[in-house]
Amino acid sequence: MRTNLRVPFADKDEAKRLGARWDPAKKLWYVHNIANLAAFARWLPAGTDPTGDAPPPPTTAAPVHTGARYFVLSCDCLPWVGCPQCGAAVDARGWRA
Ligand SMILES: [Zn+2]
Repeated sequence: MRTNLRVPFADKDEAKRLGARWDPAKKLWYVHNIANLAAFARWLPAGTDPTGDAPPPPTTAAPVHTGARYFVLSCDCLPWVGCPQCGAAVDARGWRA
């Protein structure tokens, strides 16, 4: 990844020492494939993250939607019927109301 720098003329030697390259066509300094731009932070355009940490990729997992009556039924009966084991939990969520 190429990152352009805004290096004042007075800083050009230091930028070069740190590894910046000069683009004669665009007449600007830049760095290429440098993961940590902290050393160049003072010359980075506004909005550049000097740590190089990429934002987390967007998740493709569908969000889980649960309603007010959601609960984990931990037995084998039909949830809308309930049984002595889970009847209280079923009633508490309003499934048989
Ligand atoms: Zn049950």
